[in-house]
Parts: sequence; C-alpha cells; structure tokens
Amino acid sequence: MKTHFDVLVIGAGSAGLAVAEKAAQFGRRVAVIDPGPLGGTCVNAGCVPKKLMWYAADLAHAAQDAPHYGVQLSSHGIDWVSLVQNRDRFIAQLNSYWSAHLDNRDITWIHGRARFIDARTVGVDDVVYTAEHIVIATGGQPIVPNIPGAALGINSDGFFRLRTQPNRVAVIGGGYIGVELSGVLRALGSEVTLIAREARLLHHFDPLISTTLDDEMRRQGIALELNSSVTALHASRNGIAVHTHTGDLKGEFDAVIWAVGRAPNTAHLALAAAGLHTQADGTLAVDAYQNTAVPGIYAVGDVTGRKPLTPVAVAAGRALAERLFDNQPERKIDYDTVPSVVFTHPPIGTVGLTEQQALATYGDTVTIYETQFTPLRYALAESGPRTAMKLVCAGATQRVVGIHLIGTGVDEMLQGFAVAMRMGATKADFDSTIAIHPSSAEELVTLKVGRRARGETADLQAA
Ligand code: FAD
Repeated sequence: MKTHFDVLVIGAGSAGLAVAEKAAQFGRRVAVIDPGPLGGTCVNAGCVPKKLMWYAADLAHAAQDAPHYGVQLSSHGIDWVSLVQNRDRFIAQLNSYWSAHLDNRDITWIHGRARFIDARTVGVDDVVYTAEHIVIATGGQPIVPNIPGAALGINSDGFFRLRTQPNRVAVIGGGYIGVELSGVLRALGSEVTLIAREARLLHHFDPLISTTLDDEMRRQGIALELNSSVTALHASRNGIAVHTHTGDLKGEFDAVIWAVGRAPNTAHLALAAAGLHTQADGTLAVDAYQNTAVPGIYAVGDVTGRKPLTPVAVAAGRALAERLFDNQPERKIDYDTVPSVVFTHPPIGTVGLTEQQALATYGDTVTIYETQFTPLRYALAESGPRTAMKLVCAGATQRVVGIHLIGTGVDEMLQGFAVAMRMGATKADFDSTIAIHPSSAEELVTLKVGRRARGETADLQAA
C-alpha cells in the first residue's frame, strides 16, 4: 500500500477534487482523503440536490400557470417519494462518476477522516501518510445553535434526507439557504413560516433584492417573521413549537429547519500538530495564493471562509495546482466580482457592488439605474412574480460596478453580463448593445433614467 505521495488532499469536495485532478494531470502522485461519498457538499447536500428540488418547485409554479395558456393538465399533487428517489439516483451516478474518474486519473482515494501528525504527515485510522504538499479542503457543515430543544430541528443535510414531505415547516434563517428551502417547500405545497433575526431577508444583498423577495414570498403565502430570534424549540402534542425572544410561541410544525449559517470543518484535524491555528470563527487564514502559515500546507474552498461557493472552490483549487505544479508562480484567483445566484422563486442574480458599497467606494460619481416590471411570461397568468433590476455605475466613464437582478430567468441571464462587467463595460457599452426582444434581459441594455446614488434624480440621457 502506497503511503507517500507528492500531494495529499484532505476532503473530496469541489475544492479538493479540483486540486487533485489538476495535480494528477501535471504528473504528480496524488491521494484524496474523505470518508465519502465523493463530491462533498455541492454534490451530496448542496447545489445539485437543491437545484433539482428547485426544478420541481419551478414546474409546480408553471403547472399553475399552464391553464391560462390553454395547456390543460390534470394534477395529482406532489409525489415526494418519487422526487427524492429520482434525485438520489442522480446523485449516486455523480458519486460513481467521481469514483471512476479518480481511478482513471490514478488518484488514490483513502476512505476515512484525516488528522495531522506533523506538517508533512497525516493519520487516517491507524495508517500514516506523508506528502510534500498537503491541501486542506474540508469544507463546512451546518450550524445548529446551542439552545434548548435545538436537536428537535433538522438542518439542510436533514432536509435532503426527508423521506416524507412535512406539511407545516418553520425555516429558521433569512440567508440564501433559508430562502431557497422555504421557496421549494412552499411551491411543493407545504405551509412555510420563515423566522429570521434580521430586519430583512438576505440582509447582505442590495435592499432592492430583499424588498422584492419579501413581497414575492408573502404573495406566495410564506409567513415571514423578521426581527425574531429563536430561543428554544419544544415538542408539543401535535408537533414542534418555536419560542422567540419576545416570548412568542410559533407553531406547531412538523419540521423545523435550521438555516443559520455554516461552520468550517477544522475542529477534528489536530491542526496544532502541524503548527497551524484557526481564526476565531474556525476558518483557516490563507494568503492570496492559498498558502497557510505553514510552508507546504494550503487551504482551499469553504474552509477558508472566502466566498463559499462551488465555482470559487473549484477555481481556487485549480489555480493552486497550476501554481505549484505547472510553473505558474503568480497564479491565483480574483475573489472580487464573483457572480452568484440564489435559487428562490423567482431567482436572484448579483455581481459586484451594492448601491451602498459603491457609494462608500466611489462617492458622488455613482449613478443607479433601476426598473421593475411584470415579465411577458405572466401576461396570461392570474398573477406572477415581478422582476426588479438595478445597475450600479460609477466613475468618470460610468463603468458598471454592480448588477442586481431578481426575476424569472435572471439565473441564466447573469453569467454573460458578469463577463462584460469584468471586462470593464460601461453604461455606454450596455446602451450600444442591441436588445433581444421580447425578453427580460433587454431591460438591462435599455435602462434610461438614472439617479445619483445620493437621491437626486436626473434623466442622464437628456443631460
Ligand atoms: P465541501 O464540498 O463541503 O467538501 C469538503 C469535504 O471534506 C467533504 O466531502 C467532507 O466529507 C470532507 N472532510 C471534512 N473533514 C474531513 C476530514 N477530517 N478528513 C477527510 N475529509 C474530510 N454553492 C454554489 O456555488 N451554488 C449553489 O447553488 C449552492 N447551493 C448550496 C446549497 C446548500 C444547501 C449548501 C449547504 C451549500 C450550497 N453551496 C452552493 C455551497 C457549496 O456547496 C460549497 O461552497 C462547496 O461545496 C464548497 O466546497 P469545498 O470543497 O470547500 O467543501
């Protein structure tokens, strides 16, 4: 059995697999350590199963509109068991794909949990492995708060394990996982209450996104309890009751889902044995090149706490391998202007600075272009989600520094606009691009009236 490698990667999620694959491509002897299944959070309990559930919810919404378009459907409701079985079968295929892929690339998969013995050595069960380079890519896990009765709730991992659909659900947390799971459950027919500590949903996002989402979730029948901290859960006769800081009692619920953030998986790595220490929040500090404080040990992905998204983890992993093994000493990724989508109903897409962040950076030169409309898609439907768009422009050239979208189709719309933004596109570049009609995306290249970010309104075309 081989126990010495050029590269040992701890964690076979998005980041770890990306490093391993690239390092093997450059001819290095590579092993990944993970208890499995392969693919980490994204494949097994994150992006992929979530997006499949989102598609189910999207179809449920479309089925409601279908009769208005003359498409007569006979609905028998949601078959949760089939949905979950089909989803899990697909995930199992991805696990198998990765297993075969590792074999094909001659990458060793060591099944188990790693802990450091020293800066060049890790142990898995009773076996000791050594390498010149060790990459920590252990990701994170959902946080469950330390309050009475917390264990009565489940987290996002537990959501994907639900074998029956809960009828009455409380989702605790107004971040992206909380709003996504609430939207899916509601579309599939559950009664949903979302309880969040903050005054607005997605409170790190531009306020236009939060307020539009708030209106839409309420329109869909999701009860929103904002400014509300959960202090305890308790089992009552007909379900789980939720206590809040005001003394209110909410419920009863069939399921309570904690969506209050994620914590890095660093506690069980025995980092001190390698001379490493975590930051106060448990994340591992790295420089721009993914180096930790100990030469030869690197960290990538969610464990670093930097932009916890799969494409970021993959890009950082590949860049690290290219730097170390492909003679590209300056290779690193740009953590700024990372586009991202929240899979709500309708979805949200954002890239770059919010209005407030742009003001703080560019001051008086910031101009905001905004629009809200009901897309043609819902013209024949009884009602439908509105679309809201905001373009943030700044500087003498009125460069586009932020794009904030919520509405049907924006999830697929944003990627191309993000390329334009990274290339330095200005408002004039957007304006000189011929629109695609009829589409929602055309609104982004036909925005006319801007306002200075401090509130003064001006028709900048006329100016
Ligand atoms: P992970 O994928 O978490 O992989 C870490 C791996 O390390 C795991 O396989 C684990 O078993 C292993 N491990 C941990 N400790 C040890 C140890 N001691 N020894 C060996 N192995 C260990 N991102 C998006 O971009 N788009 C989305 O739509 C999206 N949706 C999401 C939805 C949900 C519900 C969640 C929870 C996350 C979502 N994410 C999404 C985030 C995305 O899943 C993560 O950013 C991504 O998986 C991070 O990859 P990673 O490799 O850093 O960590």
